[in-house]
Parts: sequence; C-alpha cells; structure tokens
Amino acid sequence: MIIVLKRDASDQDITHILDTVQGWGFDTNISRGVERTVIGIIGDESLLRNKPLEVFPGVESVLRVLKPYKLASREARADRTRIRIPPVTEGADPVEIGGQAVTVIAGPCSVENRDLLFEIAQFVKEHGAHVLRAGAFKPRTSPYSFQGLGAEGLRLLSEVRREVGLPVITEVMDTKDVDLVAETADILQIGARNMQNFNLLRAVGRIRKPVLIKRGMSATLEELLMSAEYVMCEGNHQVILCERGIRTFEPFTRNTVDISAVPVIRRESHLPVMVDPSHGTGHWDLVAPMAYAAVAAGADGIIVELHPRPEEALSDGPQALLPKRFAGMMEELGRLSPAVGRSL
Ligand code: PEP
Ligand code: MN
Repeated sequence: MIIVLKRDASDQDITHILDTVQGWGFDTNISRGVERTVIGIIGDESLLRNKPLEVFPGVESVLRVLKPYKLASREARADRTRIRIPPVTEGADPVEIGGQAVTVIAGPCSVENRDLLFEIAQFVKEHGAHVLRAGAFKPRTSPYSFQGLGAEGLRLLSEVRREVGLPVITEVMDTKDVDLVAETADILQIGARNMQNFNLLRAVGRIRKPVLIKRGMSATLEELLMSAEYVMCEGNHQVILCERGIRTFEPFTRNTVDISAVPVIRRESHLPVMVDPSHGTGHWDLVAPMAYAAVAAGADGIIVELHPRPEEALSDGPQALLPKRFAGMMEELGRLSPAVGRSL
C-alpha cells in the first residue's frame, strides 16, 4: 500500500502516520521527492482493509496494490472459468459458457402467457439459441407496471423448458424466492437493480447453480467484480458477469453499452462475460449491431429480448426484436464468430 502525502503535510503529520502504521506491526518506507512525499507500507495489505488511512492529517490519497476482489480475479485461476449447463433433454449437448463457443440467450422480457412463451422458445431454439430467457419476477420502475406472473410464471417456464428442451435463465429479486427460482432455473439472474443487494448475492452464493449478475446501471466494473466476489465467497464459483448498459447523458439510447467492459473484465477476471444489447440500448434496431460488437470484443455470449408483437409486449416492447430479425442476427453472428476466433 502506498500513501501519497499532501504537498503541505507537516513533519508532525508524517511522524504520526509512521508511528501509527508501525504500531500496527508494519514496516514503512518513506520517499521524499521534490514535489511529494510518499510512504510505502510493507506487509500483508489485507490486514489494512478496514484501517481508515485516508483520514489521517496530511494524506492526499491511498493506493492499494492488492485488488479488493480475490476469487473473481484473474490471478485466482490459471484458466478461464467455463460454466457447464447440463442438457434439459437426455442425449442433448450441454451448454458451455466461457469456452470457445459464443452462447446466445434469447426470449421475451417477461413470461406473459404459456402460448407466447412456447412460441418464442420454439423459435429461438430452431434458430440456434442455447438458453431461454424470460422474467417471472420483474423489477419495474413503476409499481403500476406489469410486475410479472411470479410463481405462475416459473411454473410456465418449467413446462416450456421441459417441452422445448432449452435451459432457462430467470431473475430472482428476493432472498425468500431463491430456492423456488432455483427449482426451475438453470441459471439465476441477478438484475441490474439488485447488483448490490448483498443479502441476495450471499443467498445465491449458497446454492449450487450458475448465477448471472448484471452490471448496475451506475456501477463501476470493480463494483461488479465485488458483487461476483460476494457470490463466490459463499462457495458458488459459477458466476457469469453481464454488461447491460450504464446511464450516461445520451438520450438517443436507453443506456450506453460499455463495450470496453468486455476486455476489461476478461483482463481482470477469469469469469465469463456476456453482453445484453437489449437493455443496453433500449431500441430494437440497435440490438444486432451491439451484439456483433460484443462478440468482436470478446464476449462469451449475448442475452437478447424478442417478441412477435412488440407493440403488445407487457414489458420492454421498444427493444424487442421481431423473430425474423432475431433469425437474421443469428445468421450474421454465425458468419462473424469465426472471424474473431469463436464458433456459434
Ligand atoms: C431483464 O433482463 O429483463 C432486466 C430487467 O434486466 P436489467 O436488470 O439489466 O434491467
Ligand atoms: Mn427486459
């Protein structure tokens, strides 16, 4: 750890810091430059985690050398994590997220009714999707908007999962529903709004099913990695990270897809990273271009929303792809993936 002192730090400030840190059992190394004085602290940095060094008089900033996430960090594992989703129907191939192949997760924003879910699931399967998405518990900005079918939605999802033969991902919003959602879901989704719901993160850390964590709309990538750490430190290492757009000043899009999140996460972590260009852009015509950009940037997969009649969708209609447009995007992804060393 390195303490950078203010220009006007007094000798008394410096002595106070050195005495305190040495009193905690650490060695120190002081370097007096022309502009600045810097103190290096030598020892196990993790023991300094809760020490408020920033508040000492004369301190300008504290640079931590160790990353605050451990299990999620690149250094924690020699290989990239690959998450295996067992096949739903006997004899089918498992889905592997984080390997050479790009994983496509597709479906409606919400479970609306059985027929619609069945129709969309069948369609996306025929066109190469690997996992079906649909929300039963919906995190809506307004309490008056459609809130999802809840437990009935999960029941419909498990029926369609079995009949169509696609693994499913669905959101869990509440700690009390984790076991219920885990009975149906092959992957549990933590929504952007719950990325820092630490009790929920710990609760999904105690089950043994893959968890996809969406980046909060105002969260840094370090905070996203810390959320993964919450799940992993409870023992569940099957975590997928998902960039889903962040809030910026740009009104032409619902959010701004941070494509650079993909190579940053790949550099910082061994965990698979996916991109959601539907919530990321909020507009159906921007979904495919951002999906291609995500794959080109190294994403392990994409998660997209579609609906046969977006104007009737109970949630997120403006960003829903028409089925034929989803099919077109899959064809294009099939051509693009080999060009960037991936398969679809
Ligand atoms: C969703 O996937 O439908 C959803 C609500 O996503 P997010 O949490 O990214 O807004
Ligand atoms: Mn949605």
